[in-house]
Amino acid sequence: MHTVQILGVNIASVTMKEAVSIVEKHIENKSGALVATANAEMLMRATHDKELARILNQAALVVPDGAGTVWAAHHLGHAMPERVAGYDLVQELMREAPKHDHKLFFFGSAPGVAEKAKKKAEKLYPGIDIVGVRNGFFSSSDEKEIIQMIKEARPDILLVALGVPKQEKWLARNLKDLNVPVSIGVGGTLDVMAGVMKRAPLWMQRAKLEWLFRGLMQPTRAKRLLALPRFVMKVHRSRT
Ligand code: UDP
Repeated sequence: MHTVQILGVNIASVTMKEAVSIVEKHIENKSGALVATANAEMLMRATHDKELARILNQAALVVPDGAGTVWAAHHLGHAMPERVAGYDLVQELMREAPKHDHKLFFFGSAPGVAEKAKKKAEKLYPGIDIVGVRNGFFSSSDEKEIIQMIKEARPDILLVALGVPKQEKWLARNLKDLNVPVSIGVGGTLDVMAGVMKRAPLWMQRAKLEWLFRGLMQPTRAKRLLALPRFVMKVHRSRT
């Protein structure tokens, strides 16, 4: 697998199709793989959060989630075929899951959201087997029970929606114990599936403006929009 280093993090230079087949191989091998989806905001955070940077560089697969990541690869003179958005990757894996008898577990987001996302998935992907859900609000004393719940459900794919970097750190800490073939940090994916949060319209995604849409829809995140211009400057300066 070819990777491109952006601000110290190795990102896979893959198409969506390749990403799906890499994940499916990890499921078959039961390798206990961690999959992350890196957008500009995550990469900016990794420049000052060394633990996150280390986790990403040890992950089995980091896909280029976001127009900013693909732009950075190109700006640094590397090939990167396309954006592999976490949300889309998860949809592709769920579409394929019944064929391979792959089971999923949804962990994260506010109470009720994972249940709604499960119902949506069952409607969209007939035959899909979602073996458990658990919301993402818990205290450290609940963790043992959550891990036990996931282990007993024996999913092939665990989706963890706790936000960045909580989901990556939680997974890195518990990966061995969980013993799940593939775990993916999915951010707002369950919120979008449940209809709690909207994704940018297709024309905005195509115009590479999804980040702007997210900032406008959630004014509390507006400050986070600044990560993008900062990312552009930092990538440009890192060019040798
Ligand atoms: N979340 C959670 N537990 C927490 C903090 C956040 O389950 O302690 C959930 C939150 O409800 C949302 C997701 O994590 O569903 C974070 O989504 P966001 O779009 O902010 O993801 P990011 O942009 O960080 O990837």
